[in-house]
Amino acid sequence: MDLGIKSKTVLITASSKGIGKAVAEGFAAEGCNIAICSRNKESLIETSKEMRTKYKAEPFWGVCDLNNIKDIENLHDAVIKQFGKVDILVNNCGGPVPGFFNDLSEMDWSNAFTQVLMSVVRLSNLVLPEMIKQEWGRIVNITSIAVKQPVHNLMLSNSLRAGVTGFAKSLSNEVGSKNITVNNVAPGYTLTNRLYELAVNRAKLSGKSHEEILADMAKDVPMNRLGGPEEIAAMIIFLASNKASYITGTTIQVDGGSTKAIF
Ligand code: NAD
Repeated sequence: MDLGIKSKTVLITASSKGIGKAVAEGFAAEGCNIAICSRNKESLIETSKEMRTKYKAEPFWGVCDLNNIKDIENLHDAVIKQFGKVDILVNNCGGPVPGFFNDLSEMDWSNAFTQVLMSVVRLSNLVLPEMIKQEWGRIVNITSIAVKQPVHNLMLSNSLRAGVTGFAKSLSNEVGSKNITVNNVAPGYTLTNRLYELAVNRAKLSGKSHEEILADMAKDVPMNRLGGPEEIAAMIIFLASNKASYITGTTIQVDGGSTKAIF
């Protein structure tokens, strides 16, 4: 299937590892210009090297802490200098710290708000003027199945992903007439560092090993296994493509069926 996005410029945040990295690789395979970022220069260099070898891509990378507005502005400026515009924005972020309500400090809430919600708001604000001018654009936010069904011990994610969902739906109403779509992809249990760390955290609370916790998570999924980052990436790339031109304002879960709700 020709997705119609060859040579489009894609900015993917939090993309040196995990789902973000898989998304960057998927777009590289489609022949897009790629911009990746994370806080760690070494892992960005490593990821870029891999993408060069695997996809003959020349990704642009920038060090950026999504908690920091100046870093976000500098990243956007650098991408514009490199590629001239951003056609597709994929908003990803580091997962907020796990914890129940009583475990969380004012600072935990503030950091999660800044990274999970404000980075999406800030980056959307930066890329939209050009998208509106060219009357084509795609924004895809990576959220979580927490927006459909709160996840045990993830108070911050359960609370703030809902904000991203509301933002995306509202924004999609405002920019739809300019041929810009705004959607969310909500991953279920996906085998990355983040899931491993959550399993280690749950293991401490439950007295089980993290291997047992990961096995329990898989058992809870109708498909009886955890997801791969590339399976989340496939949906994101489709939503960013020309084939998804009439899909906007929606959240699509990619979770092997683990969400129990019908809608
Ligand atoms: P991961 O830990 O494997 O990768 C996270 C990426 O974010 C890394 O590249 C890291 O360097 C970067 N990052 C972290 N903090 C950052 C910051 N402040 N500024 C810039 N970059 C930063 O995580 P993942 O599993 O790929 O998850 C990606 C997102 O999807 C997270 O928000 C996570 O909560 C969410 N999610 C993951 C799962 C899952 O099962 N893995 C399920 C639902 C939702």
